[in-house]
Amino acid sequence: MLSVAVPLGLALCLLLALPFLLHYHLEETRARQHALDSENRVLELAQQAAVQEVASVLSDLRFLHEQNEMRDLLRGDAPGARERLAAEYLTFVSQKPRYEQAAVIGADGGEVVRVDGNDGRPTVAGAPALQWKGDCAHFQETMRLGRGEVHLSPLDLILQGGAVQMPLKPVLRASVALFGAGGERRGVLTLSYHGRRLLTRLRAYAQGGASQLWLLNEQGYWLAGPDPALEWGFAFPERSDRTLAAREPEAWERIRAEVAGTVDTADGLLTFRRVYPLAGDASASDAPAMASPHRYSWTLATLLPHAALSKRMAGLAGTLLAVYGVTAPLLFGGTLWLTYRSARGRARLREAQRRERERMLELAHANRLASVGEMATQMAHQVNQPLTAIVTYCAAAQRSLQSGAGDLSRVREWVDAIGEEAQRVSAIVRGLREFVRRGKMAPVPLDLGEVVAGVVGALRPDADRRRVKLGVETPAGLPAVLADRVLVAQALLNLVRNAIEAVSVEPSERRRVVVSLALEGDRVVVSVADTGPGVDPGLAGRLFESFVTTKPEGLGMGLSITRSIVEAHGGQLRYDPAPSGGAVFSFSLRRSAP
Ligand code: ADP
Repeated sequence: MLSVAVPLGLALCLLLALPFLLHYHLEETRARQHALDSENRVLELAQQAAVQEVASVLSDLRFLHEQNEMRDLLRGDAPGARERLAAEYLTFVSQKPRYEQAAVIGADGGEVVRVDGNDGRPTVAGAPALQWKGDCAHFQETMRLGRGEVHLSPLDLILQGGAVQMPLKPVLRASVALFGAGGERRGVLTLSYHGRRLLTRLRAYAQGGASQLWLLNEQGYWLAGPDPALEWGFAFPERSDRTLAAREPEAWERIRAEVAGTVDTADGLLTFRRVYPLAGDASASDAPAMASPHRYSWTLATLLPHAALSKRMAGLAGTLLAVYGVTAPLLFGGTLWLTYRSARGRARLREAQRRERERMLELAHANRLASVGEMATQMAHQVNQPLTAIVTYCAAAQRSLQSGAGDLSRVREWVDAIGEEAQRVSAIVRGLREFVRRGKMAPVPLDLGEVVAGVVGALRPDADRRRVKLGVETPAGLPAVLADRVLVAQALLNLVRNAIEAVSVEPSERRRVVVSLALEGDRVVVSVADTGPGVDPGLAGRLFESFVTTKPEGLGMGLSITRSIVEAHGGQLRYDPAPSGGAVFSFSLRRSAP
């Protein structure tokens, strides 16, 4: 029982695990999607903030460019224009602490006006403090621009005396070229914006979440990154290899190739999106260069560590495991119990079958004892012949011995013959004894023709007395069947006796019973057909039940026993009305292996 129940229980427990795994998998996919959605929201807000921030810088730049004081300066003939411009810029920078500096650089590269933010205490740079910026990239590049075009420097760190100023001061310079009345280039107006303000604003969006927000420049250097030591790599010779490109080459390749996306990296889920800060410069709608805002970009990215996702899933896994931990043993135990119950049920059935078979054997035995009368008639007939022969041989031998002149060799022959006849008697008696034995079913390869002959022989005296023609139709070469000789003879005896009784009510010329054998596939079919009135329709459906009889002296056990015997041999007892009236009872037995 355990050999079935344990694997079955385990298999069911495994099956039960499937919905749990599926649920976990779906939840994981959902959680991942949820995480991605929220990362994308953060990136979108950060993107908008970056674009807005740069747009407001550009708008301020244009405002300064259009001021009267600037026009005066460019005309070059207004006395005190430079001072007025300086005063104007001082007010402007005081009101807008986001700027580190506002400056006008002459066409020769020398600063003309400069106001420094000076950490919230803006000052106008006096003449000695003015510097030469002719070699600065942003100056040179802006000088090449057309009217209205804006130059945006990379987000960079302020240098002091050739080295990075400490603490680090990120700065973003927006510049326009200045043109004189004749269209000649007169210099550059530059507004330096505190990059720290942008970075702080961007980082605020990721605050409280599980992920970090990064800002990367076009070379893959972190402007805001996972760790301060990794940031501004391009500004420090010893950090020049600290790029995302070096750390996560595949992710970087994707970032370069796609505008937005998600990459699985060793550290976690990297969601990225490219930002074009110039794309939000609404004030430049009339400026030709702004038609290509995509020339300048940053990459915003969030890194959601694997641990953050798995932490979310760990809770669910714990719950699922707990539920599974409770249900699986229940299922396992239930399976064991059910299997045990059904095994017990099967044992009861088998026990019931065994008892039924025993009962059948008992009944068959009783049934046979009832038939002994017929057998005895038949036996008396059979025994009579050898006994008569024995008596004759004995008398001849006695005579020969008494005369004293007898031939001894002849006496010896008679004695041998007596022995043989006695053997025949003994075989007949043995047959009877076997017939009435009670016992277990013992299937052996059996010649059904022989059994039929035996039964027909036993019933013939009765048939003769009732003037019933009893015929046998057995084709030659039938294979042996596997069956219990005595029980099959018994079943056949019951059927043939019923048939003889049934035809007895018919006029004597119509009284006919035929026992026939036929091979059908691997079975031999035995049928008993008679020319009687056929089975009473009132017995329909109950014919093979016990104690069903229409005969005044009948017991109603014959067909019930016959059916039990046939079924015990794996066959089925059938009743069919004969086409010409009368009854046909038949059953089949499997042939024994050749
Ligand atoms: P019994 O012979 O003691 O009545 P059976 O179980 O052998 O018990 O038969 C049950 C009944 O089936 C019989 O009483 C009879 O009505 C019917 N029967 C059996 N064999 C035949 C047959 N060959 N022809 C018509 N009726 C039959």
